[in-house]
Amino acid sequence: MCEIFGISQFRGQQETIIQHILDFGNALVLMPTGMGKSLCYQLPAMSMPGVCIVISPLIALMKDQVAALQRKGLAAEFINSSLGKAERMDRYTKLASGGYKIVYVSPERFQKKEFLDAVGKQTISLLAIDEAHCISQWGHDFRPDYTKITLFREVLGFPTTMALTATASKRVQEDIISQLGIDKDKIRIFDDGLFRPNLKLSVVDCFDTEAKYNAILEDLEKSKGATIIYFSLIQELEKFSHWMDTKRKKHFVYHGKLSPDQRNKVQSSFLKSEDAVLLATNAFGMGIDKPNIRNIYHAQIPGSIESYYQEIGRAGRDGYPSFCKLYYCQDDLTVQMEFIEWQNPDLNYLKKLFTLLLQKQNELSGLDYETLQSYMTYKNKGDHRIQTALNLLASQGLISGDLERGTLQIESSWSDSMFSEAELLEKKKENQKRLYQTVLYTKTENCRRKFIHEYFDSPFHGCENCDLCLKD
Ligand code: ADP
Ligand code: MG
Repeated sequence: MCEIFGISQFRGQQETIIQHILDFGNALVLMPTGMGKSLCYQLPAMSMPGVCIVISPLIALMKDQVAALQRKGLAAEFINSSLGKAERMDRYTKLASGGYKIVYVSPERFQKKEFLDAVGKQTISLLAIDEAHCISQWGHDFRPDYTKITLFREVLGFPTTMALTATASKRVQEDIISQLGIDKDKIRIFDDGLFRPNLKLSVVDCFDTEAKYNAILEDLEKSKGATIIYFSLIQELEKFSHWMDTKRKKHFVYHGKLSPDQRNKVQSSFLKSEDAVLLATNAFGMGIDKPNIRNIYHAQIPGSIESYYQEIGRAGRDGYPSFCKLYYCQDDLTVQMEFIEWQNPDLNYLKKLFTLLLQKQNELSGLDYETLQSYMTYKNKGDHRIQTALNLLASQGLISGDLERGTLQIESSWSDSMFSEAELLEKKKENQKRLYQTVLYTKTENCRRKFIHEYFDSPFHGCENCDLCLKD
């Protein structure tokens, strides 16, 4: 089986985990990004009698992951909203008749009767929940749909279950286990640590933006290999890009304002390149499996240690020395503070938005983001609370559909008990604390790795590869 997957030896605890799953044990797997979590369910899935269902939040990645399995001759498929109806129905039929060993779905699938009917006709041997931190409110990428996993397990007949993530603090781990609805003594935690040792962590303190630009350019001149420079704001990315042009420094840019076609082109050029420099927002990177990214620079402070950790996890997957530098400039903090405001609309705002949608109930299909925004805020055009607010309303079943696609609909009526002011406030405070911890990371005088290990409550066994330990 290992030959099919093209591996000569297991990494970390892969083998133990796979054996545990084959013995029908439930597992929570914590393993650094890029180390090989997928193998831990893909390999058992092939030898177990029934079907393995993989729940993943990343629709965009399913296709690639499944294509890789299909190239190996394995009966894998994905079913999600990106498919046309006819294709989806075909896949349901094939699933029901035992045509697949491993099926990737997003959590929304469990709302569809056709899907439930199809899985009902098969024995589900294994349920794998990828990116399992999305289950937890305390994770950095909470997805409301992920909170129904206990229900999904029941629907699937309580199969052997594994949850996988690269990052989970003790609190997130506990939350994941409780959301799975599995007793603590019926699930084993496998912790393969946080870091691959080849990543060198460092922070560059910059007095102002100009100093920062110069520091980055200087490092680029000295460095070798492919580099990603991350920005929090497209505007700031573009500014830096122009500045790089004046210095005649070649680079690519990647962000959400480019067309999908442009993004694809940039992505494939970067993936092929040995030494390209790519300026990107966090829109770039999910599912990127380029082994030889040598440098990951952050030109603006990220909002949390979780996202920083995830982004630097893309460096040096081939095991060769790689460099993760955070350029810290105090001015960049305001950007993150604004993000926190946008991500945390208060109760009044939610109520006001819902009331407005009710009033416009008959014209919702023609409403766009900008118009809705102009109704909601008279002054601040840069206020982006609407997206978060719409998600929150949807999470309570008040609305459904998608604003941009013209499918937004009112589903039920407002009740004051749906949202708790205190909870909303707590979430905002949580985001502020995360940002504060990221600032503390830049200020630590001890060891960068130790700081991150403590942050995730993960056992620390030494570093020897950060600017503070190497004192350079
Ligand atoms: P993640 O832990 O981030 O989910 P993936 O499962 O996507 O990582 O695996 C990352 C890469 O590592 C893939 O290209 C995969 O084929 C490769 N890989 C996984 N396990 C091994 C192994 N034991 N030996 C060599 N390569 C492996
Ligand atoms: Mg993965």
